[in-house]
Amino acid sequence: MAPARRPLLAAALFAAAVLLPGAARHGGAAAPPAVLAQARFAFLVPGPGGPLILEVAAVAPAGAPADAAALASAIRAANPGAVPIPPRFVSAAYVLDGVRWRDPVVPWYYAPAGATPSLPPGDALERIRRAAETWSGAGGTPVRFDYRGETADGPGCRGDPAAITYTADGLNVLGWDAIPGNYLGYTCWMRSAPLVEGTPYFELIEFDIVLDPRYPYTGDILQALALHEFGHALGLGHSDRCPGAAMCAGELALIFTEPQPDDLAALIALYGRRPPPPLPRRALVPAIARD
Ligand SMILES: [Zn+2]
Repeated sequence: MAPARRPLLAAALFAAAVLLPGAARHGGAAAPPAVLAQARFAFLVPGPGGPLILEVAAVAPAGAPADAAALASAIRAANPGAVPIPPRFVSAAYVLDGVRWRDPVVPWYYAPAGATPSLPPGDALERIRRAAETWSGAGGTPVRFDYRGETADGPGCRGDPAAITYTADGLNVLGWDAIPGNYLGYTCWMRSAPLVEGTPYFELIEFDIVLDPRYPYTGDILQALALHEFGHALGLGHSDRCPGAAMCAGELALIFTEPQPDDLAALIALYGRRPPPPLPRRALVPAIARD
């Protein structure tokens, strides 16, 4: 049997973050800070089967000591041979990241290690699961997150985003870890290098979501953050129509606990509806007008 050709993989690292200055106590209503800086960069990096693409999108709130150039150079230093390339640029109401799952039923696991002390463990998982569930079937799409239980293995790309390399462990995992640089959470994904035949999309292969446990979450804020990160895991980028969408960036990502119309439009654009929407009824009008 001929050996299977190893597909070229491209790794995309996505980071979205919020800093909470003057941390509110548990249960307190934390007013999220205003977003000040956003940065996006991409690198061509050598991989085992060919070149890979590492993408980073980061956002920092007002008053945070965010330094995009420092983050970019740290990522470059952590990935020997990385060559900066222009990031893809898109502008629309909703924004797609050009990736989607071939099978819209996406399994995922929860890694409870190091979970936030802000909420009882059961509550945190419940809120996270609810966030995943609200994407399931949203907008009439066939998308579904399939929760497979807890895992002792943390997410494959946890830790310092600047030090993450494109390793994949085959599991989609949401877990916890301290994230340096005042970032609250991020989603990493692996995608195919070639487009899915007949589509303008690359194939999503694996995702991991990392949340920083040090934030004083309320249940709603955790659910909103998880909803936003799961949206990235489906291929949704940051909306240009903000506020008003779960996929808005920065502090605006902590508002909605359910997908909004703009988010649903993005999901439908990526995955379509099942079943297809019915055609409008043909209007009954006379075929011939008579005097
Ligand atoms: Zn985001």
